Amino acid sequence: MKKIAEDVHLLDGFPPNAINVYLIGDVLLDAGTRLAKNRVLRELKGRTVTAHALTHAHPDHQGASKAVCEALNIPLWCGEKDKLAMETGDLTSVLPDNWNTRLQNMLWTGAGHPVARVLREGDTVAGFTIIDAPGHSPGQVAYWRESDRLLILGDVLNGMNLLTGVTGLHEPPKLFTVDPALNRDSARKLAKLKPDLVCFGHGRPWRDGEAFVRFVEGLAK
Ligand SMILES: [Zn+2]
Repeated sequence: MKKIAEDVHLLDGFPPNAINVYLIGDVLLDAGTRLAKNRVLRELKGRTVTAHALTHAHPDHQGASKAVCEALNIPLWCGEKDKLAMETGDLTSVLPDNWNTRLQNMLWTGAGHPVARVLREGDTVAGFTIIDAPGHSPGQVAYWRESDRLLILGDVLNGMNLLTGVTGLHEPPKLFTVDPALNRDSARKLAKLKPDLVCFGHGRPWRDGEAFVRFVEGLAK
């Protein structure tokens, strides 16, 4: 894994930055797809991990959650409106229904697992403040650390083109987004924070905060 800021590491993935998993302090943030289980556990060997938190309960973020929580005997935390999906493993309430999400469900979705703590706006996790950022999924949350203006925003925006892998700012595809208009509101809410470093679920860490804010301001009302 690679250190990207104080107490923030990005696990190695393949292709690099396609599906990101972070270690913030001693909290594992997201867990990739069901297929990522062994890789995530291998990378965490020798590290202290006391909890696992989600940005949102989509298959490419919660896929290995159950396996990791059971292997490390750690509790799972997520936003309130994604809790039921995470606990049942039935993600139909947090994903639009289409051929693409049905395929993802078959390939990537992890089994349900109890959520020990619901994350609410203003809560603290590993020195980060929780910010509600619904839209892509109903219970998506972002993680904000004001001291170095570091924002981890899940899939409110993508830092790469998901088809080509080319770096750049994009709204998440509508195919995977429950409420695109609400997600855009969440992007505006997060841009007001004026982050210096933005970390995505997909794409490499983005260190041009001004370009991030400009991109969001340029989105149609
Ligand atoms: Zn995602």
